Amino acid sequence: MAGFLQQQADQFEPMRQRMVKTQIMNRGISNPAVLDAMRKVPRHLFVPKEYQDEAYNDYPLPIGYGQTISQPYIVAYMTEVIRPGSRMKALEIGTGSGYQAAILAEIVDKVYTIEIVPELAKESEERLKKLGYKNVVCKYGDGYQGWKEYAPFDLIIVTAAAETIPQPLIDQLAEDGRLVIPVGKPSAVQELQLVVKKKSKTEIKRLTFVRFVPFKRL
Ligand code: SAH
Repeated sequence: MAGFLQQQADQFEPMRQRMVKTQIMNRGISNPAVLDAMRKVPRHLFVPKEYQDEAYNDYPLPIGYGQTISQPYIVAYMTEVIRPGSRMKALEIGTGSGYQAAILAEIVDKVYTIEIVPELAKESEERLKKLGYKNVVCKYGDGYQGWKEYAPFDLIIVTAAAETIPQPLIDQLAEDGRLVIPVGKPSAVQELQLVVKKKSKTEIKRLTFVRFVPFKRL
């Protein structure tokens, strides 16, 4: 990270360490790679300036265009549940601020991420580049169709709530791959579901209740 950004990051270091301890570890997240990533990624650089002081608090924050950056615990939980490994290839639908992509990029080999709001797609791509994430590939578009060119993916994270799991994403999941997605009506509480592909069959596990912004279509 560049000197200027490093300095900014340091100022928030104690808040970030406290966040990991009280919000993440105390709630049962234990994967060391996930915890390390959460300790490292400067979350305050992924939120609008006026919310920087709140970046490490226990709730989601607005990032403009009616969208939000997820609560830190939810990011950690979704990352842990897909069991990320250092040689894996991940797909994220809903880049938003780029924070979840950065967390994944700290752990896995390569991250592909798609965002449907053009301004956010551009901003997050620039942000990730500036922060030195060379293993993240960003794209503007409707993530419903996944990203065929780079499929199959070991891991897929969807960070917007869909009424049903998009079939193209299930198709693009590798053997033994894991996909996590909030499923439910946009205005309601949704259910976080985990899809595991085994011998070309899919198993769906229902995890917990969450509230996400709606999955949109172009
Ligand atoms: N992962 C993000 C959270 C962003 S909120 C972060 O770490 O900040 C969910 C995002 O999904 C929003 O930015 C929204 O615009 C985007 N989105 C909604 N429907 C989408 C779709 N069909 N394809 C791609 N992105 C979508």
